[in-house]
Formats: sequence, C-alpha cells, structure tokens
Amino acid sequence: MGLINYLTTVRFDFGAVADLAGDLASLKIARPLIVTDAGVLAAGLVERICLAAPQLRSAPVFDAVPTNPTEEAVEAALEPYRSGGCDGLVAIGGGSPIDLAKAVALLATHDGLLEGYAAILRGIPKITARVAPVIAIPTTSGTGSEVGRAALITLNDGRKLGFISPHLIPKLAVCDPELTLGLPPGLTAATGMDALTHCVETFLSPRDNPPAEAIALDGLSRAVRYIERAVKNGADVEARREMMMAALEGGLTFQKGLGAVHSLSHALGGLKDLRLHHGTLNAVLLPAVLRYNEEAAGTKYDALRRAAGLDAKADIARFVEDLNGRLGLPKTLREMGVPSRVFGATAAAAVADHSTATNPRALAEAEFKQILEEAF
Ligand SMILES: [Zn+2]
Repeated sequence: MGLINYLTTVRFDFGAVADLAGDLASLKIARPLIVTDAGVLAAGLVERICLAAPQLRSAPVFDAVPTNPTEEAVEAALEPYRSGGCDGLVAIGGGSPIDLAKAVALLATHDGLLEGYAAILRGIPKITARVAPVIAIPTTSGTGSEVGRAALITLNDGRKLGFISPHLIPKLAVCDPELTLGLPPGLTAATGMDALTHCVETFLSPRDNPPAEAIALDGLSRAVRYIERAVKNGADVEARREMMMAALEGGLTFQKGLGAVHSLSHALGGLKDLRLHHGTLNAVLLPAVLRYNEEAAGTKYDALRRAAGLDAKADIARFVEDLNGRLGLPKTLREMGVPSRVFGATAAAAVADHSTATNPRALAEAEFKQILEEAF
C-alpha cells in the first residue's frame, strides 16, 4: 500500500517574499527567530527579506549556522529563541539554516536531548504536533529542505543523524527564485546537483508512490535542462526559476526515501574538520552508485534516460560524470580532500544511515567501501 502525503503550502514566484507579513500573521507567529548563516547575511538577503514584514525587522537573528548544522549550533540558537520569547522561526538560506531551524523548533517544544528524537534511534513517534511553526525561505536551489520532513544534524559525538517527522515540515515554503540570482557558479552547480540527485534517488527508491515518482522525473528533466545555464549565467532568470522548481520537486519526493548516495554523503558530511559540501559529495558519488544500482533497477533506468533526454542506450553514470566536468565540479573524492583512511568508518556509518533502507539494491559495509573506492 502506498502512503502519499503532500501537506504543506508553497508559494513560488519571483517576488514571493513580499507577502511575508500576512504569512506570519496567518501562522500566528508574532515573535519569530530568524535563522540564517553568515554568507546569506553578507549577501544582503536577510535585510531584503526583513523589509517585507514589520515582524521581521525587530526579530532576533541567529546567523552562526555551520556548513553542516550541529547539535552545538542548535543549542546556541535555542538561547535567543527562549530569551526573545519567540513563537516560531523563519529560516533563510540553504539546507543548513532550514534544517537547523527545524531542530530548534523541535527542541523548543519537546523535552530532553536531540539524540532521543533521531529516526534510527526510534525517535520518529516522539516528535509531535507541538513543534514550533517554521517558514522556510530557500536562497539556493538544491536541498528541498523547505518542503522536507527531515533535518540532518551532526551530534556532539560526530554522528550525522536524521530527524524525521511530518511535524518537521515547514508550515510554509516561500520559494522566490530572485533570491538565487547572486549565487556564485560553484554553489549553483553543487546545490543543483543535490537537487538532481534527490530526483534520481527518490525515483529509484523501491517504495510505492507513483505521484512522487512523476514529480521526481519532472524535477530531473528540469535540472538536466537548466543546470548548465544557471551555472554559466547566474542572471538567467528562466534557468534560476527552473532550478528552484527542480529543487522543490526533489524535496516533494523525499517521502519515498533516498539511497546510497545520501547514505555516504551524510556519513562524509559528518567529518567536522573536512567541512565537505553535501551537494558536491552527491555529484561525485552519484556515478558509482548508479553503476552499482543498475542491475536492481528494472526498467527504471529507461525512464531516467527519457527524463534526462538521453538516447535509449546511453550510459547514465557516464552522463553524470561528463555533466560534473562541464559544471566545473570535482571528479573524485580525492580531489575533494577526502582521505581513504576514513572509508572504513564511513562505510559503517552509511550502513546505519536511514537512506540505506530505500536504496534499490541492498548494500553492506563491503559494498559501500567498493563504491567509495570507485569514487576515489
Ligand atoms: Zn541531498
């Protein structure tokens, strides 16, 4: 039996942030905490968005979100939330500020440590409707976190864990492609490949959800057609709009579950000193995982080829490698600075990751290591 669920509201267009005052009022958020990161703040986007709503102009701002959000940063953000008497959050940025805001919304309303709510530690049913409301405003086109039910947080002991619940879905996603016009080419490429990977992995997930699969294929098609244009010319408004839609669609299909690319990129993203970019990791890992999964995917690779506009016999893994090259992304984990000595621990963490259960072909530590070697 399928479980199909599209529960949140999305406003999508150039200028969509203009209605934020009304949005905050209808969600009964009188005192929001703004969660963002230093880069988004420096780009002037927070200032611009705050002009749209008087509730935001006087709101406290937490801007110390790390590249990969941490339990430590969640605790730090809880302080201004509590001392400011906040009753909701506005997350402005890529996946990291949005995920962090979800975790703050959870801990502000639920007792105990974050760890107790982790999906792989049976935390899902403990997350209730009490979670504080979050408005998510993405400033990249990649993560899909603005409509996703998961937050990925690195705990103090180094494990990067998923916190998953329909209650963590932002109550409203405001997708305004204008906010991405200034995103530099490298980040446009890396975040765009994250969106593309979401569409591929969710489509290949064995869970039964045909509506999600249709959305994933549409997202893949948009990403393949527009990612190079968005990278080449950041001011290309059509490309920016289409990439933001591809990212949104990737997020709308998350409920099918991701796969081995994300199992590995979650594990590698938890390595604090390396600070590896999630989207870049996915781009580099995707070809090796596509080769591994092909024998278990039935006719699904034909559908992927059609959506990507490829020939019936095209090698999809090779297509992704070539695309990465044209986008100026690294080709290997080695090039990203990942040392092979972490492969053992990475493979073990990937086996335990929540995305592994929905990879179309089963894998254990040995198979994960083999994929890491191939991508090295
Ligand atoms: Zn991702």
